[in-house]
Amino acid sequence: MPTYQDPFSRCKLCGQDGSTPTYRLDKGAIYRCPHCDFHFLNQLDGSAGEESTNLSSAGRRYIASRIDEGKHLHPLRLQLVEQHCSLAGAMTLDIGAGLGQFILLLQQQGASALGIEPSALRRAYARETNDLELSPHLAEDAYWQSSYSRSFDLITLWDVIEHVDDPHSTLAAAVALLKPGGLLCLDTPDREVFSYRLSQVVNRLSSGTLPLFLSQFYSTIRYGHKQIFTHRQITTLLQDCGLVPAPIHLDGQAKRAFSRKIVLAARKPPLPTP
Ligand SMILES: [Zn+2]
Repeated sequence: MPTYQDPFSRCKLCGQDGSTPTYRLDKGAIYRCPHCDFHFLNQLDGSAGEESTNLSSAGRRYIASRIDEGKHLHPLRLQLVEQHCSLAGAMTLDIGAGLGQFILLLQQQGASALGIEPSALRRAYARETNDLELSPHLAEDAYWQSSYSRSFDLITLWDVIEHVDDPHSTLAAAVALLKPGGLLCLDTPDREVFSYRLSQVVNRLSSGTLPLFLSQFYSTIRYGHKQIFTHRQITTLLQDCGLVPAPIHLDGQAKRAFSRKIVLAARKPPLPTP
């Protein structure tokens, strides 16, 4: 008789078996890998049903109510990018473009900017409000991999890598689309903030009955947060995908704005000169 294999026992980060449900939430559970200490939710978008593609008035109101969320970060993200990359004439791709606000900033700097946004509602809103046509195809899809291999000077993933089903395959796909010498920038929530660490302690002391703030870090809704990284884990993942971390400088204002986030820039090695 075949034995039941928990599909989430395999760690999304290091690929080894043995992850177990360690933190119980109202909906779902956070698995922890005993080998690399990665934390991830037992939920994938790939197994969820079809999303409504209709931009109803309720959908429009919902998006409009959240339009300013994270908006203040875009100019700071642009400054970060410009530390490493000259944007005039650059080919750029924003993965998880949302409503396309960062794409507009890139275009204002003279870059050619494309965007990927899996949410049909957000694509409809970006079309209607910003006159932008974002792509529904994921970076892993043949649409990008066959026609845009080694095409981009810059790829950005702002608040994205915590949402995707498979962070390794998303980043590896992005790296394949980067030109040699190209730059990848991302930010993502930081697992080492006080509220997360406190929640882990309280959870342990309450024998798993009190998730405290953990439910604010993860969500089982479609496109919700599925994994939260430590700085070391996301840096290692970038390196495993062939990137070399680049130093970044955040001034006082940026440091405060990104105080609960990990912000990283990394470069694809240039081709060796013959
Ligand atoms: Zn692991």
